[in-house]
Amino acid sequence: MNRKQVSVDDGTRISKPFRPPSSALSVPKVAIAIGAHPDDIEFYMAGTLVLLRRAGWETHYLNIGNGCCGSMQYDARKTRRIRRDEAKRAATVLGAHYHESFCNDLEIFYELKTLRRLAAVIREVKPTVVLTHPPVDYMEDHTETCRLVVSAAFSHAMPNFRSIPPRATSEYDVTIYHCMPHSLRDPLRRLVMPGAFVNTTSVQAVKRAALAEHQSQQNWLDVTQGLNSLGDKVDEMGRTVGRLSKKFQFAEGWRRHLHYGFSTNEVDPLRQALGKNYLINKTYERNLNQEF
Ligand SMILES: [Zn+2]
Repeated sequence: MNRKQVSVDDGTRISKPFRPPSSALSVPKVAIAIGAHPDDIEFYMAGTLVLLRRAGWETHYLNIGNGCCGSMQYDARKTRRIRRDEAKRAATVLGAHYHESFCNDLEIFYELKTLRRLAAVIREVKPTVVLTHPPVDYMEDHTETCRLVVSAAFSHAMPNFRSIPPRATSEYDVTIYHCMPHSLRDPLRRLVMPGAFVNTTSVQAVKRAALAEHQSQQNWLDVTQGLNSLGDKVDEMGRTVGRLSKKFQFAEGWRRHLHYGFSTNEVDPLRQALGKNYLINKTYERNLNQEF
């Protein structure tokens, strides 16, 4: 919060919170992508993160889970180490600051200690844009990550909620965007449409390069999900969302979180930041106002 000395009628000078009109505020250009596992950011969010970086934003990269269950070949300890190295290299490819994971795979729960640790990351980074998983997804780690991210972001200006380690709060607007669920379906198989499309065509090669750093996953996904190539899969996902946009060759899809508790007014900073690479899905927006 900006503080400014304000004169009152009797000449006394008092310290009073001062906030210029929202139209005069320039949004601090800081974004964080938070995924459940190493490679989730690359599959669902990395194109948008790279475009923000190219638009002059400071970008951050955090996987809450350390990827320790992602191997048939190595034990959890060795897998964790391999995947940490891979994720760090991928973050470098994306031009984003790397943050350490703090949960094991399948142990990401909406519980207090994890929430406090995530709140500390949010308070250190002070992102105005947060990219994360959708509120429901095929895997519970993704859903729990989303819940944790929403609450950690909500607490960014709440000094009475303690973070681990303790970090100061500050007051600013934060906007959360949810990426598409895996295969664009919720756990009950229903199709989920994006509220906005980001044109990732110009950065698709960077997404592939970042994903290629997760070498250990090539074998794992081949065995468990029949994926021949991580790069081909991420291209196929991008092409599918691109087709839905009816405009872009490759795209990522997003749904913006309701702003209550996160920003004073309803804002859409990705729209401003990405310009012609950002396309609102008008049908989605229209359907938001339909009565049930
Ligand atoms: Zn995942």
